[in-house]
Amino acid sequence: MILDIVKYGSPVLRQKGAKIEAITPEIKKLIADMFETMAVNHGVGLAAQQVGVAKLLTVIDVREVTDRPSTLELAGKPADVASIMPLVLINPEVTAAGDAVKGSEGCLSFPEIYAEIARPETVDVKALDAKGKPIAFRCGGLLARAVQHETDHLNGLLFIDRMDKKTKAELQPELDDLQAATKKLLAKK
Ligand code: ZN
Repeated sequence: MILDIVKYGSPVLRQKGAKIEAITPEIKKLIADMFETMAVNHGVGLAAQQVGVAKLLTVIDVREVTDRPSTLELAGKPADVASIMPLVLINPEVTAAGDAVKGSEGCLSFPEIYAEIARPETVDVKALDAKGKPIAFRCGGLLARAVQHETDHLNGLLFIDRMDKKTKAELQPELDDLQAATKKLLAKK
């Protein structure tokens, strides 16, 4: 089922996700729906908050993007990024493993708004997969950026919080418009 994507201005985007204790049928359905919703919107990642659920769950798939490379290491050895796609991260823990680099980011909760964001180029990730099994890997490039962007969502953080002051100031009118439109829509419901 394709879910509505929550836009900036909706309070759930600022909520910290609750830890997932068990992979229930509801969680399985949510994962399937999130993948479907991400695919129709051509997203690389989607966090549960973005479909209105404040839980520590995100789905990622970078395979559609061919012009921005990703890297993967499993148990210290280079591995094929596609081998872990599509990727489900439950209760993820992300640790920086490299210096920050700037890269372009967008967000399905901020339609048509893009900005350069500085983030560590490489990160170590520990999480549970869709079956509740522990997984661990090191990743770089676009995948590392997606993992960090989505993990931020799970903690109630948004990419506007990571923008430098000048970029955010330039985008402020658009951000204010989007927030006002979302609040108007929520008031009608
Ligand atoms: Zn986002």
